Amino acid sequence: MRWQGQTLDADDGALPGLERAGFVRSVQTPEFEGVTFHEVLCKSALNKLPESSGLSFKWTINPMRGCSHACRYCFARTTHEYLDLDAGRDFDSQIVVKTNVAAVLRRELHRRSWRRETVALGTNTDPYQRAEGRYRLMPGIIGALTDSGTPFSILTKGTLLRRDLPLLTQAARVVRVGLAVSIAIGEQDLHRSLEPGTPSPRARLDLVRALADAGFSVSVLVAPVIPYLTDGTSHLDELFAAIADAGATSAVAFPMHLRGSTRGWFLEWLATHHPALLRRYRQLYGRGAYVTPEYSAWLRGRVEPLLARHGLNRDTVAESAPPEHEDRLSEPDPQLALFA
Ligand code: SF4
Repeated sequence: MRWQGQTLDADDGALPGLERAGFVRSVQTPEFEGVTFHEVLCKSALNKLPESSGLSFKWTINPMRGCSHACRYCFARTTHEYLDLDAGRDFDSQIVVKTNVAAVLRRELHRRSWRRETVALGTNTDPYQRAEGRYRLMPGIIGALTDSGTPFSILTKGTLLRRDLPLLTQAARVVRVGLAVSIAIGEQDLHRSLEPGTPSPRARLDLVRALADAGFSVSVLVAPVIPYLTDGTSHLDELFAAIADAGATSAVAFPMHLRGSTRGWFLEWLATHHPALLRRYRQLYGRGAYVTPEYSAWLRGRVEPLLARHGLNRDTVAESAPPEHEDRLSEPDPQLALFA
């Protein structure tokens, strides 16, 4: 059995935040060196967004908390602090898994009151991060949504989504299925440094191709754009060209936000790898989380013609201030803006 080598820790060390989340046990396995899975039993699977979210969907599902994709800029980091875990390394390596999420979801979708409104996945942490290979939560979730006639969307950086492509193709015959892939960085070294746990940009472009070949209209989230590192014309132009060539139908881009603990985590990286940029970042972000309106406008002016040139201009650069997070615990994931 694939997971034979796993070791189980007794549930004697759960933090209070994890206890609140329905902690069952912690698991470490040689296949996931440095990662601890905290298995929990959730009480609900569907999260309702506040009316003020301004998004085109009202419901989300987050099968896990924390994300081993470990993007330095990830806006969801702050949510880990509500589990009494930290927003830096813990977010990358202490992954909370709702092992019963599919069963709970199926129950919720069978309620008479359920109105079959669109449900979004990938709005907080990535449902196809590596842990999904171990826990296989998504087939049950996709099955429950399809059987109940509920349209849904998935946004991911995880090429593991390919595993479920036959299931998604079947689902799309019954309900509306939106698929989007996130590719913020085209340059290899920067990708490895800033998104160390994610599949390569090439692998994600291949995923776009596979989804397009299967008949899906694929959107690509080229975000966040990282000021002075990924906002160059040649970087954006080459990335958009590759995305169009892979068969995507649209792309969207918007600048990086640095809110809460993500700010310190990202700036620590910047100080190590690009110290010369620190002063410019202080000017660009000041004490706040968002870039200046001038930078947003400048980026929009740069991106729009490039998207048009590559036929990807269904959406353009989003406003720098995204809507409130679904559970108001933290900054929303940039992925939310894709569907706004
Ligand atoms: S940005 Fe998305 S893929 Fe990256 S760590 Fe955050 S949730 Fe995971």
